Amino acid sequence: MKRKIFEKLEEYAYFIWLILLILIAVFVTYFYDTNKKTQVFFLQKSFDNIYLNKTFESITSNLTPRYLTVHFQVKKGDTYENILDRLNLPIEEKKRILNTVKKQKEIKSLKLNKQLYFKIDRKENIKIIEFKIEIDKKKDIAFYRDIGLNNFYSKIIEKNLNKIIIFKEGTIKNSLYNTAIELGIKPNTIVEFARLYGFQVDFQRDIWKGDSFQIIYEQFENNDGSLVESGDIIFSNLNIRGNDLNLYKFELQNKEIDYFDESGKSMKKTLMKTPINGARLSSPFGKRKHPILGFTKMHTGTDFAAPTGTPIMASGDGVVTKAQWCGGGGNCVKIKHNSVYQTIYAHMSKFGRGIKKGVRVKQGQIIGYVGSTGLSTGPHLHYEVIENGRKINSQKLKLPSGKVLKGEQRNEFEVNKIKIDVLKSELIAGIN
Ligand SMILES: [Zn+2]
Repeated sequence: MKRKIFEKLEEYAYFIWLILLILIAVFVTYFYDTNKKTQVFFLQKSFDNIYLNKTFESITSNLTPRYLTVHFQVKKGDTYENILDRLNLPIEEKKRILNTVKKQKEIKSLKLNKQLYFKIDRKENIKIIEFKIEIDKKKDIAFYRDIGLNNFYSKIIEKNLNKIIIFKEGTIKNSLYNTAIELGIKPNTIVEFARLYGFQVDFQRDIWKGDSFQIIYEQFENNDGSLVESGDIIFSNLNIRGNDLNLYKFELQNKEIDYFDESGKSMKKTLMKTPINGARLSSPFGKRKHPILGFTKMHTGTDFAAPTGTPIMASGDGVVTKAQWCGGGGNCVKIKHNSVYQTIYAHMSKFGRGIKKGVRVKQGQIIGYVGSTGLSTGPHLHYEVIENGRKINSQKLKLPSGKVLKGEQRNEFEVNKIKIDVLKSELIAGIN
């Protein structure tokens, strides 16, 4: 009997092995699957974990370099004080720099269009380790901090720079900044380009993939070709969905450099759409659920998220009518620009130097710094535009343009424009 069963089993051996194999395969896949699912679940949970997120943030923020070089070109209305304010230095450090500068007769008064460089050490107490101020196109004065001491020694540096003119054009793939960097355009020039169009273009929302740009700009280089500094933008074009926005550089009699479109209209508008640099539009004008109060309410301004301390500019010339605590708006500033327009800036961490009721301000002047005072969930600027007493959407504002060139100045501009157009076609022919 026993032998019979054994014989039968032998007959079915292949079949039994097959079933066993199938069973093993099923079990293995099943366990692998569930295991993977739990893994993904735990991974997801860790990503959602706020503490881990904070750790990621601190890891990435530690990656920002310790030394930072900042460059300025002196604009109308700039003073050493307001340039240093933009660097967010401790008060004593600012005083130290001002005293150092005032002792040098060559640079005692700040001249229009001159270049300034600051190298900043961002470790703990922010301090300047060296800085350079342009005396003229041939000379710079450089200041170096004595190690361990709080004073600077200076040195005049002869420049032997060659001015080169560069033409670049590109089609925007992801962002204007990335596309421009890929083309080898230096960050200073890109920032300046964005500033020129800041009055008419909202870089967050108006720029789309496929839009294009052209730019002609100066660069100053040493004899060995090493880049020394970026110069002016001479011409720029931004093509947004088929519309050309051309800007030509033009120097006015008072040496002020301004940019005009082909019909001689200044790129400057009475008000800026975005009175802050490098911010992200975080909440638009319109109905929304209030992040703190919870109920749906009209949002009568535009919010721009930016780190605490980011400078906020006056969006146009005008008189400060309020610079004080204003409840939910925290520290806020109100400016009256003319009989039609007023602007409000809320949630500031602190006011700009000398900003108080009754003070006149220039477009672009720093009036305060981003904060989260009042009813606010995080550092941002709440910006309001009031037109004839009514709050309106600043991002949809069609503003009258500033200066329009007329008469003799217009003729000069036309001649200059033709020269730039010729230069442009030569540069394009040169690269083809
Ligand atoms: Zn707001």
